[in-house]
Amino acid sequence: MKNLHSIMLDKDKCKGCTNCIKRCPTEAIRVRNSKARIIDQRCIDCGECIRTCPYHAKYAVTNSLEEIRKFEYKIALPAPSFYAQFEVDDVNKLLYALLELGFDDVFEVAKAAEIVTHFTKQFILSEKNKKPIISSACPAVVRLIQTKFSDLIENILPIASPMEVAAYIAKKMIQKEKGIEEGKIGVFFISPCAAKMTYVNSPLGFKRSYVDGVIAIKDVYGLVRSKLREIRDVKHLSIASGKGIGWAASGGESLALEIEEYVNVDGIHNVVKVLEEIENGRLKDIVYFEGLACSGGCVGGPLTVENPYVAKNRIKRLSSKLKDKEESFSSWTEEIINSFSLKLEDVLFEKELETNPVLELDSDIERAMEKFEKLNNILSMLPGLDCGACGSPTCKTLAEDIVRGFANDTDCIFILRESIKELANKMVELSNKLPPSLERNDE
Ligand code: SF4
Ligand code: SF4
Repeated sequence: MKNLHSIMLDKDKCKGCTNCIKRCPTEAIRVRNSKARIIDQRCIDCGECIRTCPYHAKYAVTNSLEEIRKFEYKIALPAPSFYAQFEVDDVNKLLYALLELGFDDVFEVAKAAEIVTHFTKQFILSEKNKKPIISSACPAVVRLIQTKFSDLIENILPIASPMEVAAYIAKKMIQKEKGIEEGKIGVFFISPCAAKMTYVNSPLGFKRSYVDGVIAIKDVYGLVRSKLREIRDVKHLSIASGKGIGWAASGGESLALEIEEYVNVDGIHNVVKVLEEIENGRLKDIVYFEGLACSGGCVGGPLTVENPYVAKNRIKRLSSKLKDKEESFSSWTEEIINSFSLKLEDVLFEKELETNPVLELDSDIERAMEKFEKLNNILSMLPGLDCGACGSPTCKTLAEDIVRGFANDTDCIFILRESIKELANKMVELSNKLPPSLERNDE
């Protein structure tokens, strides 16, 4: 069975320090018996715990470069953030280096981002949408909404991600041009992020993914660098514009849409704050919300190598360098759209996004009410310090864990101390007592 999550724990490295439990946006981690444990149903694969763990005990499972060998024809889909990892002024060199690693072809996800922008503009103009429309580009943010903000599910842009569009076009193109059957074509995303791996295993809004594997940027970084040193003649391979490449950094997607009423936010905790505002009916004048889980956008993904600020700057430089050629690049976009007769309907979600009911206390409403009351009683006895020493991130989550039967009230060190004190007092009281036959009565 495929593992649905890509974030894993290396038990041997975990010291049970509880650092990660505080940073997890969906309260998906508990520490028990000095080891962290991820609650699968709650985890959105945002990668925040990878960044937080001082002992590198959290890691992402992705595919290895070796796995491309299973396919007759191998296509690399470099994420726009891939370009930002290297001090290179010509992206053609980077694409060529990927071919040197064993791929037969490359299709830039940045080009697919331009196609997604084209259809998003059409969707924004349609009457059917609920404002603000929330970008669906970051799978961790989509899962966050499914888990914590279910009322906002209908605001999510129901359009396939650039990675998925790139995979679809790349496969169809090779089938058409070379007559190779789909099953023999392997499409691999060169990824900055673990959430994409989870997406491929469990797609959002679609029944299947056209992506066959996800390779971490950090896993090919060294190899690409060494190939770059050997490259002399560069073939012209890149067809992506600055607008598509700009998607790598926070705000790039909104800039490409050329609308004024947008908000872009990066970092999962900042995204949570803005979603809370949207849920509370604020930000009504905003047409588009671009929220990205990683700091700086995809350039800050946990599977990247370069400092996100440096990477963001590179993306800016690359985008402005390509500005003059914008017209010829957009004719490429049109050509692809026309040659596949792509329409908005073709990229819309095939199925509705569902709520992740993991935060519900019980599926039965009466039992849920009872448990809620019990939870509040327990919570009123807890100190409200959210110290995390119990292994749950907050006092509220400990109360929840107790109600669900996963923890005890004495897991709280303050309650434990009170119980010990009570017991000690009782013991002192008992130690002063004698059997009636021995008690002295001087009166
Ligand atoms: S941060 Fe979490 S995973 Fe890392 S050592 Fe501490 S408890 Fe374990
Ligand atoms: S990946 Fe994100 S949601 Fe999952 S356990 Fe880590 S911090 Fe929590």
